[in-house]
Amino acid sequence: MNGDTETQALLGDEAVSLAALHAGISAAYGYPGTPSTEIMEYLMAECEKDGRGNDAPRAAWCANEKTALEAGLGASFAGRRSIITMKHVGLNVAADPLINGALLGIKGGLVIAAADDPGMHSSQNEQDSRFYASFAMIPCLEPRSQQEAYDMAREAFDLSERFHAPVMLRLTTRLSHARSAVIPSPPRGRNPLSKMEDKRQWMLLPVFARKNYASLIEKQKEFEAWSASHPANRIDNASSTDGRAVITSGLAGNYYDENLPDLAAQRGLPSRLHIGVYPLPLETIRTFCAGKKQVLVIEEGQPFIEDRLRGILPQGMEILGRRGMNAPVPRTGELDPDNVRSALGLPPRRSVLDVLRTRPGDLPGRPPQLCAGCPHADSYETINRAAAELDNSPGRPLVSVNSDIGCYSLGASPPYSAVESIVCMGASVGMARGAADAGIPYAFAVIGDSTFIHSGVAGLIDAVEADTPMTLVILDNSIVAMTGCQPTAFPSAKLKPLILGTGLDPAHYLELEAKKQLVEENAAKLKKEALHRGLSVVVFRRECLEAARKRLRAAKK
Ligand code: SF4
Repeated sequence: MNGDTETQALLGDEAVSLAALHAGISAAYGYPGTPSTEIMEYLMAECEKDGRGNDAPRAAWCANEKTALEAGLGASFAGRRSIITMKHVGLNVAADPLINGALLGIKGGLVIAAADDPGMHSSQNEQDSRFYASFAMIPCLEPRSQQEAYDMAREAFDLSERFHAPVMLRLTTRLSHARSAVIPSPPRGRNPLSKMEDKRQWMLLPVFARKNYASLIEKQKEFEAWSASHPANRIDNASSTDGRAVITSGLAGNYYDENLPDLAAQRGLPSRLHIGVYPLPLETIRTFCAGKKQVLVIEEGQPFIEDRLRGILPQGMEILGRRGMNAPVPRTGELDPDNVRSALGLPPRRSVLDVLRTRPGDLPGRPPQLCAGCPHADSYETINRAAAELDNSPGRPLVSVNSDIGCYSLGASPPYSAVESIVCMGASVGMARGAADAGIPYAFAVIGDSTFIHSGVAGLIDAVEADTPMTLVILDNSIVAMTGCQPTAFPSAKLKPLILGTGLDPAHYLELEAKKQLVEENAAKLKKEALHRGLSVVVFRRECLEAARKRLRAAKK
């Protein structure tokens, strides 16, 4: 294990991983998702170095974020520390154990590292994990540097054990994926395995859950007191007589700082409160804003702080942020020093980006594309060919192709333009079922092997029970490709018994090789299954090229 306390250059994600190891975790669980994936990759590499000794920490990818968090609850029950990692939308999948886990008497520290993706670099929405922490009524820490990511992650484990509650660590893309110097603290040992003394705290039968819920409500006062005195929630320039005040949080605090010299020179420095931990320190905010005419909130993500201010500050005080017709902070997208500068009323500065933006014609567009030779390309050619033969009457929708989340989502883009819907992990299967029930005769769901295990399999069970006339197409490339080729939690060899185990008629289970030379032949077979007036599952199989390259590189070492 990396027990080095020398300064290290770490990604924000890696700083969290190292902190978890130094905090003495016994286990780490997660599901790959940008920008959180590197947390588990680092942990898995470090745990592998430690071997599989009895007390060595375990790190493993799970079928989905829900099973990952449930495994973390089990570790906590046994008195051990664990970290659970996921991207922001993973919290939707893990919401059940998250909200209910908050009612438990957490024993071994349980930390959930959720990485948000403002600007949707690699995501389907911009949801802000602070809302989930608030909804679950648990503490949340939001680092603004790699060093804070390390320090706060370590603190989160102590906090979880002190308050007997799960603790969330909210990261964002720029912090997760940027590298900076981190000075680690000496590692601590792992918690001993311990027996649960009061099992009622872990049984959410109504009779116990009511008490546990009351206890969680009681804990809020402790959380608030902790937040109010935390050094990450700090006021700068408190003596300013300026009628304006600024509240920043997370990385937005850095963008504000970057503009400080110009702000001081051109407009004068207002008082500023930076928020780094939650629940919001409401009394601190009230005192800080007292006597001000205007408060500007600059936060990365959704208007979480801004919305809460509207309930606690006196009417008439102007609250500016992301909401409203003339909001100074953009309502959507990622913040940066330039849009924060504009929100502060400073004139734009000329940057290299501006120069580039003035000559857009010189910049080639680089839309994301499937790798040249990707097996999904052959699968989509096959689907398109079958669909074209099925849908020969333009007046009525006869074919619907619902895709899932993965590299194969790019089948929505030219030259394939095969896909009509992409919603969330696993949704393609249920959507195809609904489309079939609604009367579309040839409904397809297209899903990867890992996403199928993540959350598509439950939709298959529904479709099997109803014998829905639809075709589930599983693109099996034996890897979680989109996030950098992590191993799937469930090997491809076990897919067939799993699918047939749901009760699917084996006559309508088909395995095809995704290959250019076979497109025509495969399209005929796919069309035949689509014409079947019941459920068919067609698995297109071929290894991801990127995974093959990695495998060959590893074999040469
Ligand atoms: S990483 Fe693999 S699955 Fe993704 S586009 Fe490239 S070859 Fe296809």
